Amino acid sequence: MLKLSEKMSRLGTETAFEVLARAEALTREGRDIINLGIGQPDFKTPEHVVEAAVRALHDGHHGYTPSPGILPLREAVARDLLTWRGVEVSPERIVVVPGGKVTMFFAILMFGEPGAEIMYPNPGFPIYESVIEFSGATAVPTPLLEERDFSFDANAVLEQITPRTRLLILNSPANPTGGAVPKEEIDRLVTGLAEHPHVAVLSDEIYSRIAYDGRTHVSLLAYPELAEQLILLDGWSKTYAMTGWRMGYAVWPKALIEGATRLAVNCHSCVNAAAQYAGIAALEGPQEAVDSMVGAFDERRRVIVDGLNAIPGFRCRMPGGAFYAFPNITGTGVDARALQGRLLEEAGVATVAGTSFGRLGEGFIRFSYANSVDNIEAALARIQALLEG
Ligand code: PLP
Repeated sequence: MLKLSEKMSRLGTETAFEVLARAEALTREGRDIINLGIGQPDFKTPEHVVEAAVRALHDGHHGYTPSPGILPLREAVARDLLTWRGVEVSPERIVVVPGGKVTMFFAILMFGEPGAEIMYPNPGFPIYESVIEFSGATAVPTPLLEERDFSFDANAVLEQITPRTRLLILNSPANPTGGAVPKEEIDRLVTGLAEHPHVAVLSDEIYSRIAYDGRTHVSLLAYPELAEQLILLDGWSKTYAMTGWRMGYAVWPKALIEGATRLAVNCHSCVNAAAQYAGIAALEGPQEAVDSMVGAFDERRRVIVDGLNAIPGFRCRMPGGAFYAFPNITGTGVDARALQGRLLEEAGVATVAGTSFGRLGEGFIRFSYANSVDNIEAALARIQALLEG
């Protein structure tokens, strides 16, 4: 009998991938499934980005690169941070990793151990809680509230900090709620954090460019008083429709760069070399593709939110960012997991139960609207027919 380490039993998962597998199995059986489950843009990576990778391969970029990423890429990230967040960052503080997830894995492993507490958004990206539990630390949920458009209450978050708190994870715009935390709330949080210099902050800003209604993204990087505490997570997956390329980066505080680089050396050595050249092209090339993708998401957002609000038993807030709608479904009288199952099996619409994003997701369902308006309208009609039938 193989004997696994005890911590393996504490590792969770991301249910969206299970829903995707079931949706694909049903499609293979000949069922017509509309996939509003998986959280990835339905657009192709811009052509000039693909070209840059092909060119890099032809130019012979086939070997290992420096572990934190090639310097021209880290310089491009630094220029991008100046453009979009108005902050000057040395390329030495940037570590490029295979996807946004790797930064969160490293940050949580760096701080997590039995006796430590790590705070994370709930409902939130499921990997936070999973990896916190894996590390042996205590996972402390910070509630995101429907009545606040899924923002947190900064004072409530600050009150949860104890001497054992090591890391506070934030995510705005957020998965699964689409919530974008208002600047005043972040200001309040940062002011309060001055009294807790022992707490590191991991700000997951992977949806930073996908914001609506003229919102400008509020980055934690723009608060110089957090410079020694902040790990900023971003990447190429969502902004440039590059989920399969596995490209992400973080800005680390000076004291943590060596640890982050060591974790990279121990884990993946470096990111795929050609993908790194594609990453430069994405950041430095034309941004029209990003703008038109966000424009399309915006239109779909209105269609899905209006449509969901017209379904009996559903009530849905207008999300401020990302590409998710997170309606409250308590009025249907069905719990989230059961409704996810009925929507998929009986209506042919793949969604993800709110409980896949934590305990506080009960009573909600996540819809990814990274799908065409036609498909969204067809899905809404099917759901309406199911619930009314
Ligand atoms: N952070 C959040 C909040 C996400 O929703 C996701 C992906 O869904 C990630 C990070 C991971 O991104 P990547 O695919 O680049 O690892």
